[in-house]
Amino acid sequence: MDVSQMSPNEMEQQLQHAVEEHRRFTTDGEVANYIPKLGSANPKTLGITVTMMDGTSFTAGDCDAYFTMQSISKIVSLLLALQDIGPERVFDKVGKEPTGDPFNSIVKLETIKPSRPLNPMINAGAIAVTSMIAGKDNPEKLERLLQLARRLTNDTSVNVNKEVYLSEKSTADRNRALAYFMRENGIIHGDVEDILDLYFRQCAIEVTCSHLAYMGAVLANRGKDPITSEKIVPEDLARIVKTFMVTCGMYNASGAFAIDVGIPAKSGVSGGIMSAVPNRMGIGVIGPALDKHGNSVGGLRLLETLSREWQLSIF
Ligand code: GLU
Repeated sequence: MDVSQMSPNEMEQQLQHAVEEHRRFTTDGEVANYIPKLGSANPKTLGITVTMMDGTSFTAGDCDAYFTMQSISKIVSLLLALQDIGPERVFDKVGKEPTGDPFNSIVKLETIKPSRPLNPMINAGAIAVTSMIAGKDNPEKLERLLQLARRLTNDTSVNVNKEVYLSEKSTADRNRALAYFMRENGIIHGDVEDILDLYFRQCAIEVTCSHLAYMGAVLANRGKDPITSEKIVPEDLARIVKTFMVTCGMYNASGAFAIDVGIPAKSGVSGGIMSAVPNRMGIGVIGPALDKHGNSVGGLRLLETLSREWQLSIF
């Protein structure tokens, strides 16, 4: 089916149909609760927004539901750190390789010599990336992160959800362990609690699937705003993050996702998925019920169907 030939009505109808069709899969998953506040999300929520290369958006389902970016924020922090200190210095400390381990795994940090997180999409790598963001103090660094997030989502009101941030901060022993281990090994420097505080706030940036679709559209449009054509991030950096989205964006299910869906995408444990279909569209999805890898069950099914029907796979 040629999406570019579809009328806005047809497009919206297809999306609505797809959401209703796939909502039943949400009962196959569970809402994350290791961050206690995330546990209160409604598992039946399912919503989608598609933003085209001219900025036109189509939505269906629970597209007004707010949720926190969680791991999707790793894309924002990586883009900022890459702009701040350049790819060479970022990738001196954090690798470019996928991992078959869960997102919060500690095991490879110890077995790889010299110690280095495998990539910026797992927690260890993302915490290291956050530690590279420029700024005189945490409030300034957070402001810079928020500014980029607001430009990527085309909404100046995007902000941190304080309750989710505090909920993670008070329960994040695993991330603390990763960070202290990395400081001992010279991957990060300075005050670990400060670095983690910024990381928890970045993960708690609150959005809807429409924000994620816009962000995907900017990346799909090689770093340019789809409406104004203004450059938000350099093209080569947009290319780097899209490549990470393909190789490690969907946790340790990224290989299966590349085969079944075939588009650059990044998911988060709150159930969001941000996808960028190069030169075609951005897609934002929310569905808080997760599979065992931490990916939205309803969201995965939706993307799989749309990719097949609209021939979105880049492969
Ligand atoms: N804030 C979450 C954590 O560090 C993000 C994890 C995720 O979304 O994958 O555990």
